[in-house]
Amino acid sequence: MLAMAFDHAGAPLQRAERPVRAPKRGHVLVRVAACGICRTDLHVLDGDLEHPKPHVIPGHEIIGRIVAIGAGVHGFRIGDRIGVPWLGATCGRCAYCRSGRENLCDRPGFTGYTIDGGYAQFATADADYVFAIPPEYGDAEAAPLMCAGLIGYRAWKLVRSAHRLGIYGFGAAAHIVAQLAVFHGQDLYAFTRRGDRGAQKLARELGAAWAGPSEEMPPKPLDAAIIFAPVGPLVPLALKSLVKGGTLVLGGIHMTDIPEMPYALLWGERVVRSVANLTRQDAIDFLEIAPRIPIRPHVTVFDLDDANAAIARLRAGDLTGAAVLVPPG
Ligand SMILES: [Zn+2]
Ligand SMILES: [Zn+2]
Repeated sequence: MLAMAFDHAGAPLQRAERPVRAPKRGHVLVRVAACGICRTDLHVLDGDLEHPKPHVIPGHEIIGRIVAIGAGVHGFRIGDRIGVPWLGATCGRCAYCRSGRENLCDRPGFTGYTIDGGYAQFATADADYVFAIPPEYGDAEAAPLMCAGLIGYRAWKLVRSAHRLGIYGFGAAAHIVAQLAVFHGQDLYAFTRRGDRGAQKLARELGAAWAGPSEEMPPKPLDAAIIFAPVGPLVPLALKSLVKGGTLVLGGIHMTDIPEMPYALLWGERVVRSVANLTRQDAIDFLEIAPRIPIRPHVTVFDLDDANAAIARLRAGDLTGAAVLVPPG
């Protein structure tokens, strides 16, 4: 099969021929129909996330159809359409797994990082960590639900009681959270890179009450905010915009250093916390809610062969919504 694989930190993806392997016990093999590009993939390529599987195939927003089923798998048939998310395996035994927090597992496997992912024509996945995709969604449209949607949903759950919600970094996750927030009656404030009129326009179209550059204060103080951009200096900026008792959620797996800041920004019971990975229950809950709103991801589709060009555009902030790779059929 054709794959676009990681070579070494800082290098572009390498076009590679890889064997298609029969699924191991408990696993399924899918023909990949679409795979979203997530900001986390850029962190893998840049070496921000250490110790990837050597020559890993990135991609953890996989939509595919099952073409082979390993021994011991129940509940799936050949031809079923499934999604494969970032959380690819957990140990089931550590204190986190045993307390309903498998997202924090001490011995996890992550798709497209420690397990080969979906920048390829085929992918295998542990059948216990894949999900049926609601029929309302096309393949490419569904791909961003698998990470931008799931991580966005997990971050949003922590701020769902906020009346005025800010989002810093209006990319794939933010444009899905915006739809969750507006549907639930929250006033949304979208912060983008200065001059990113495309993202600001999309935010307003999705119902944002205000959209502007991250350096600006919102017209009213915020009850909560989520930062999706991997930019540490946004933390004091966002704290400045929060009311007392407000919550700031950091939604990215990697962030540049947070600058030194006066304690006064945190004083008043403001809370800063990160959100890590997802649980399978998050996926079940989100995939049930998404078609009822309905959440509609805005996607730009690229051929798998053009993965490096797509990543360059994502990096440059030259895309609104989500980028999705489609392999040759
Ligand atoms: Zn565990
Ligand atoms: Zn992701």
